[in-house]
Amino acid sequence: MLLIHCPYCNMKRPETEFRNAGAAHIARPLDPATTSDAEWAAFLYLRDNPKGIIAERWRHAHGCGRFFNAIRNTVSDDFVTTYKAGEAPPETEAFASEVAPGSREANATGKQAETAL
Ligand SMILES: [Zn+2]
Repeated sequence: MLLIHCPYCNMKRPETEFRNAGAAHIARPLDPATTSDAEWAAFLYLRDNPKGIIAERWRHAHGCGRFFNAIRNTVSDDFVTTYKAGEAPPETEAFASEVAPGSREANATGKQAETAL
């Protein structure tokens, strides 16, 4: 069973107590009234889908109920670290070695496919 550390409860709890709440650190446009429809749609729906280390929002839904942020490896599904909402994210470059060796090759292959189109 995957255990996730809640930074508010300060304990590891089973994954079934948590809910993913999407990408972390998405900046809301300062003035939605002057934001174009395309910019607003991009803010609402367009997200990166990287392979490797990402920052996400999570909610301890069946615990304290609070939102927090997590650095997670999408390849291995390991949580590298969690931190409270409002705290500065740790530098994700420091976790680059956490990415599985094969995934870097896959990313490089993906880039080549993109540029070929
Ligand atoms: Zn909690």
